[in-house]
Amino acid sequence: MTESIYSTYPPKLSETQEQFLVSTIKDWTIQHGLTVRPPATFVSQDAVSKGVLATNAPVTLFPSPFPKACFEEARAVQKVYNELYARITSDEKWLGEVIEELIDVDDFVAGLWKVHQAVSKEGYVQDLSVGLFRSDYMVHTLGSETASLKQVEFNTISSSFGGLSCRVAALHTELLQSPPGHSLSYPGHPLLDGRVPPENTAVETLSAGLAAAHEAYGPSKSSPALPLGILFVVQEGERNIFDQLALSTRLTQFHKIPVFRLVTSEILDRTSIAEANPSRPLIYTPPHAQGTPFEITTVYLRSFYAPTDYKTDRDWSARLQLERSAAIKCPTVLNQLSGCKKIQQVLADPNKPDYLARFVPTAESEGTQEKLRKTFAPQYDLSPSGRGRELALNPETAARHVLKPQREGGGNNVYKEAIPEFLKSIPESDWKGYVLMELIQPPSEASNVVLRSDGEVVSGNVVGELGIFGTILWKSNGEILHNEEGGWLMRTKGKESNEGGVAAGFSSLDSIILY
Ligand code: ADP
Ligand code: MG
Ligand code: MG
Repeated sequence: MTESIYSTYPPKLSETQEQFLVSTIKDWTIQHGLTVRPPATFVSQDAVSKGVLATNAPVTLFPSPFPKACFEEARAVQKVYNELYARITSDEKWLGEVIEELIDVDDFVAGLWKVHQAVSKEGYVQDLSVGLFRSDYMVHTLGSETASLKQVEFNTISSSFGGLSCRVAALHTELLQSPPGHSLSYPGHPLLDGRVPPENTAVETLSAGLAAAHEAYGPSKSSPALPLGILFVVQEGERNIFDQLALSTRLTQFHKIPVFRLVTSEILDRTSIAEANPSRPLIYTPPHAQGTPFEITTVYLRSFYAPTDYKTDRDWSARLQLERSAAIKCPTVLNQLSGCKKIQQVLADPNKPDYLARFVPTAESEGTQEKLRKTFAPQYDLSPSGRGRELALNPETAARHVLKPQREGGGNNVYKEAIPEFLKSIPESDWKGYVLMELIQPPSEASNVVLRSDGEVVSGNVVGELGIFGTILWKSNGEILHNEEGGWLMRTKGKESNEGGVAAGFSSLDSIILY
């Protein structure tokens, strides 16, 4: 049934039409900030270091068809997912037991846990946490007439592309709304007739989450009182900066909150904790305004999610400094750890006890647990004599699976036939650092045309991944102050490519047409 949707989509473009559409899109992306810093491989190092250039983010020429029922289902469970991960984060005992298992095989997880333990020993001074989450899904079609929605993963740190995703929706909407025969318009196709992508409120939602945290922080804890602001902690040379600027601009222009950007290597130079003050406010001194320090209410991490963000002990000290301060963290170390693939496996493992019941009480809403469970694809650990180990070591069954380490940001997984070989190449004692997940099987005939950041145009079979954004602000006692769903991200990758990270260069930004 779904196959027929794709058989004539997207409509064919003549060479002239394609060239015209591509050049129109290139100009549009620059005009509207649907941009990234250029890859260092195709401009001179000099131009990169001067920071004077930007190019289009990788985008599809056409929006991709997406089943309406699946889109609505994904939106409908987002607030429940927000709450689930807030509750897991607050359940230090349960989370700790799962994380403990990873500590002797994963230095990165161990490092994060150590930061938590150090702050825990001293005592946390901030009771609030804020999450900017993104739950990622694919449409699963194998063996069934109707498409179902399956979660790929849940992100609790640096959930990106809210900013650029809104721009892609705007680009495709503008192309769709151009009058027929107009030079900007697409060739006719029944799927495009009168349709536009659904509203995308990612920027508003994500910014409102940070603004809610800023508000909840209350007055300055310093004496004398200091002006308050939000700190974005970012990676050096971030190519995806314009995505982040969409959020900070919204925060300053609409919410009237000062926002500062700080690279991880400068945290210890530019911030300090007023140690004499038992509240431990985090003080930030901007380089451009000597003598005018700000007190940071909320720290938003767009860094510190990967081992490469911790090059030296100094970076770990910087993370510890943020964690022990009074600033509200997005996310805290515990909330970051709650997003480990291991947690998702434990929740989705058909052979594990039903942990959902622990975190999602049925009393509140009949069938809520069931709605979440329906989005799970089977996941397993690799414990001796367990089902996961059996599936992973047999090449025939491994071919239907993906092996995931406790990492974020794309490019870390091992796929299909490569799994048994990979496992045999590492010590068996390290296997518990990985989880095995059944592959989701999206429609096989979907195709699209992609304009890459280096100007290349590629077309072919694609696989789409839909992300739904949500934000939540909560107290460690479980009280929820703000819980919202809003905004989405469609990423499209070449079918033959296993990975889907846009920043890692494997895929492109897209929008959706519901059918
Ligand atoms: P990361 O946190 O690094 O983004 P993911 O779990 O999202 O890790 O995996 C990266 C990519 O691998 C996804 O974007 C998707 O393309 C692919 N992938 C992961 N899990 C599955 C799955 N169960 N079925 C199909 N593809 C998957
Ligand atoms: Mg992730
Ligand atoms: Mg992912």
